[in-house]
Amino acid sequence: MRLRSHLFFQRAKEVIPGGVNSPVRACKAVKSDPIFFERGEGPYLIDVDGNRYLDYVASWGPLILGHAHPNVIAEVYFASKRGTSFGAPTWLEVEMAETIRKYIPSMEKVRLVNSGTEATMSALRLARAFTGRKRIIKFDGCYHGHGDSLLVKSGSGLATFGIPASPGVPEELTAHTLSLPFNDRSAVEEAFQKYGSEIACVILEPVPANMGVIPPKEGFLSFLREITQRYGALLIFDEVITGFRVGLGGAQELFGIKPDLTCLGKIIGGGLPVGAYGGRADIMNLVAPQGPVYQAGTLSGNPIAVSAGLATIRELAKPGTYEKLETLSNLLEMGIKDVLRDLGLPYKVTRFASMLTLFFTSKELVNFQDVLSCDTEKFALFWQGMLKRGIYLPPSQFEAWFVSLAHSEKDIEYTIKAIKETLEEIERNP
Ligand SMILES: *Cc1c(COP(=O)(O)O)cnc(C)c1O
Repeated sequence: MRLRSHLFFQRAKEVIPGGVNSPVRACKAVKSDPIFFERGEGPYLIDVDGNRYLDYVASWGPLILGHAHPNVIAEVYFASKRGTSFGAPTWLEVEMAETIRKYIPSMEKVRLVNSGTEATMSALRLARAFTGRKRIIKFDGCYHGHGDSLLVKSGSGLATFGIPASPGVPEELTAHTLSLPFNDRSAVEEAFQKYGSEIACVILEPVPANMGVIPPKEGFLSFLREITQRYGALLIFDEVITGFRVGLGGAQELFGIKPDLTCLGKIIGGGLPVGAYGGRADIMNLVAPQGPVYQAGTLSGNPIAVSAGLATIRELAKPGTYEKLETLSNLLEMGIKDVLRDLGLPYKVTRFASMLTLFFTSKELVNFQDVLSCDTEKFALFWQGMLKRGIYLPPSQFEAWFVSLAHSEKDIEYTIKAIKETLEEIERNP
């Protein structure tokens, strides 16, 4: 059924570590081989063997319009005809920065980069430079790309500063990173009491989606805003996923919180590599060449990538888009909940806007520790069963499913039906 995928994977393993260019794509967590894709069309992915799948990965978030949206493709085409890169400014970058600031006013000044990882790395450097402090606080289960300082295992208690989550990251670096349980005010308070004058920033996904979707508790974000201000630390929202996903103004608009710095990526590139960081002008003015904090990029603000991003945002700004996403996502959530109730299964569905996770646990989910209670073996069976029914879900329990504007109500109904069949199948044969 997937012979060509299999053959490509054999070849890939010879020349690419693990056969993939980003680990989760290998589908190891769901005990499968990766699928090699040929093309995408609206809500569908088509693999190299000609199989078609309804896609909820959306390239891990960017494709909120679905695959190969005609207006995005047209902009990419016209931009590439004018030349692929100049290594010099273009008006498109100005337009992108203005567009970002228009929708996310806390980003008074914006620097474009090539990925979310670059955005968070650069924002950290800047926060440390601005405050003259070294220590940073992050939260267990929040992912901020693979920059050294942020690759830190869940800290076990406050006294222990970060242990690197990967070989090759010096402990001297992660020693400055404190990873705390998400949604835990007292852990944050304790950290500030102990190290307050040394903490440069708190960085977080305002609505974490990289441990599956775990919404913040009421008041948690405003508490972080208040405590960082009190101790002179910066608050950094990593909105690489939530930016333009949960609304044009990101999570910060929905929660009414103004972070000092914000990181963007994914949707603002419309499927091409773009990231951005920005925030208060007095902080951003430290970035070279205006200030001394070095950060650069050969392809930063690339005209083709920025064109794809601008075209995507233009589509999103049309009336009714987020309402449509909400309707579809709510339909999916309610459908899954009905199925779980009908089958008498205790599993949990979390949703925030068009991001959703079905967790194979009966536990109340507040932080990463809770998420770890999930039955990942069962999730693997579920993923395989869904694939068999032509639905491509993120190949890990700890990810968000993304609903796009290309999905139809019919697609959602089919998905709910497939979920019911799959759950019946895997619960019958445990
Ligand atoms: C994807 C992601 C990143 C990293 O972005 P890349 O483009 O993969 O480097 C950073 N932060 C969050 C919240 C993300 O979801």
